[in-house]
Amino acid sequence: MAELKIKLNDADDHTRAQVAYITLDYTKMFLDKLRFERLRLSVKTLRENVSDHQLSSEDMFDFATDMASKVGIIEKKKWVRNFKELPLQKQYEMMKTLQDTFYNSLPKESSTKIEPYRNNFFEGNIIHTDVYYIASANIRKYILPYVRGWFLNETCPICLENFQEGSFLLQFPCQHSLHSSCFTSLDDSQDNCRHLKCPLCRNEFWIYVTREIDVVKKSNVGGRLTVDIYLKTTAANKQMDEMLPREILARPVFIGNV
Ligand SMILES: [Zn+2]
Ligand SMILES: [Zn+2]
Repeated sequence: MAELKIKLNDADDHTRAQVAYITLDYTKMFLDKLRFERLRLSVKTLRENVSDHQLSSEDMFDFATDMASKVGIIEKKKWVRNFKELPLQKQYEMMKTLQDTFYNSLPKESSTKIEPYRNNFFEGNIIHTDVYYIASANIRKYILPYVRGWFLNETCPICLENFQEGSFLLQFPCQHSLHSSCFTSLDDSQDNCRHLKCPLCRNEFWIYVTREIDVVKKSNVGGRLTVDIYLKTTAANKQMDEMLPREILARPVFIGNV
C-alpha cells in the first residue's frame, strides 16, 4: 500500500488530537530523561570530588536532586548545613562544576532518534529531531553561592537586599543575578513565560520546549492506523512561540533551570 503523506494541519480532528497527546507525552518523557541524566551526572561528579566526611552519600544525592530539579529553593535543605561548612570558594567551584558538567554533556549538534509508540488508536514511530539540547547548552543559567566581588551586581533586583556571602543566586547568561529564592516571585504568574527575563537588563534567556509536528499516515489495517510522527523539539521564548502556528503547539513544556 502506498504511503499516504499528510501534514498535521490537513489531518482530521481525531488524528490531530491524538498526535498532540502522543507527542506531549513523549516530550515529557524526553525532559524527564534529561533530568535523570543530570541527576546521575551530578551524583557521579560529587562522588569524585567530595569526600564522605564533607557530605554524606545521602546529602550528595539530595544536593544532586536539587541541581537537577526546576529552579531549586535550596536554602532550607539538610545538606546545605554540611555544605556551608566547606570553604566558600569550594562551594562555588563545586556548584559551577556540577552545572558545567551537565551542560558540557549535552550534544553539540541536532540528532534524530526513532522511537516506537502505541496507544488505543494509533501505532507507529516518532521520528524525533532535537535542537532544544543545543539551546540549553548555549543559554546557561547557574545556581551559585554568592562570593563578594565575584558577581556583576551586589543587590537582588527583586527584594532589593544586598547579597549575603554564601546565599544561593540564580545567574543569567548576561551575568546578572538574583536570589534563587526570589526567583519564585517571577515564576508565580500563570502566564509566566512573559516574566522570565533578566529583571536588570530585560534580556530574555528563558527557554522552553516547543514542538513542531508533521505526520505521515502509512496504512489502515483492520481499523488500526499506523501513523509515523515527525517531531522536532525546539527551544523557544515567547516571541518565537507567537510566530508558530497555534494549532500545532500545545502548552509549552517548562523545564525550569536547564
Ligand atoms: Zn532577593
Ligand atoms: Zn541581565
